[in-house]
Amino acid sequence: MSHPPVQLGTFPTPVEPAPRLAAALGLGPDDLWVKRDDLTGLGGGGNKTRKLEWLAGAALAEGADTLVTTGGPQSNHARLTAAAAGRLGLDAVLVLRGAPGRSRSGNLALDGLLGARISWAGDVDQSGLDAAAAEVCARLRAGGARPALIPFGGSSTLGAQGYVRCGEELRAQVPGLRTAVVALGSGGTMAGLVAALGTESVLGVDVGALADPAPAVEEFAAPLTSEKVTARRLRVRRDQVGSGYAALTGPVAEALRLAARTEGIILDPTYTGRALAGLAAAVRDGDVRPGEKTVFVHTGGLPGLFGHADAVAYAEEGAVTHDL
Ligand SMILES: *Cc1c(COP(=O)(O)O)cnc(C)c1O
Repeated sequence: MSHPPVQLGTFPTPVEPAPRLAAALGLGPDDLWVKRDDLTGLGGGGNKTRKLEWLAGAALAEGADTLVTTGGPQSNHARLTAAAAGRLGLDAVLVLRGAPGRSRSGNLALDGLLGARISWAGDVDQSGLDAAAAEVCARLRAGGARPALIPFGGSSTLGAQGYVRCGEELRAQVPGLRTAVVALGSGGTMAGLVAALGTESVLGVDVGALADPAPAVEEFAAPLTSEKVTARRLRVRRDQVGSGYAALTGPVAEALRLAARTEGIILDPTYTGRALAGLAAAVRDGDVRPGEKTVFVHTGGLPGLFGHADAVAYAEEGAVTHDL
C-alpha cells in the first residue's frame, strides 16, 4: 500500500436523485439516490477504474510494462484494464475463460479496439484461470517483458482502496446515508465501501461470480478499517443469483426496464440489474425502508449488455412499432 495511485478516472462521480424509480420501488421521492460510478470516464466507465488507479500505480512503481488480468469473455474489468494500460503506455494481456469465436460483441469488441492481446483459457474454473494467467506471465517474462498480474476483478486490499474513496465521496454527497446498495462480484467494491461506511451501511447483492463472496469481502476490508469486519456480519443478499452469473433472470429483466423507463438509466444484466432487483426485494421484505436515505451504486457494465444475447433480445422486445 506504499505505492501512490495513478489518476485514471474523473472523480468525484455525481450523485443524482431518482424520485420516479423510488416511487416505483415503494420508497419516498427523496429516499433514493444514484451514485454514478458508471461515469468514471476511462474506457467506457465503470467501477474497476477506481481499483485500477491503485493496482496500476503499484505495477508502474514495480517497473512493469505489461498488465495481465483474468475474467470471463464479457469482463468489464478486463476491458478497463486494457484501457488503463493504453492510457499508461503499457501493453495488456487478457486471460479470458472460454474459446474464441463464440461472440465478439460487447466488451470483447472494446478489448480489441483498445489493443489488448487475448489468451483464451478454455472452460476452466477460477483456479484454472489463475494457472493460465501464471503461465502467460511466465511466457511474457521469458520473452523479456515485465508483466504485472492484476487480480481477478481487480479485487484485493490494494484495489479496494479505490472504493474507500468512493465511500468517502458518498459520506460528503449524501448526509444521513442509511444504505448503499451495490452489486457484489469479486468483492473489492463492497469491501472498500464497508471500510469507509461500516458494515451496517452497505448492502451487497451477490451476482454469483464466486461460490461465496462474503469471506473475500472480509479479507479485503479487514486491513482497511478499525471495525471488526466479519463475513457473518455483512449485509449480503444471495436471492438474485438465479441459475447463474450468465443467466438473465425475470427480476433482473424487470429491473432493467424499470431503471430505463423511470430515470433513463441503463443497467447491465449481470451486475447492476441484479443489484436493483436486490434493492426491490429488500424494499419488499423491509430491509430497506421508506424514509431512509438509500444510495444505489451504479457500477457501470453497459458494454456487457451488448455482449449478452438474451438481454439484447429482451431489450428489443420493448420497441413496439407504431404508425403514428
Ligand atoms: C466487477 C463489477 C461489479 C462487482 O464489483 P466487485 O468488486 O467485483 O465485487 C459490479 N458492477 C460491474 C458493472 C462490474 O463490472
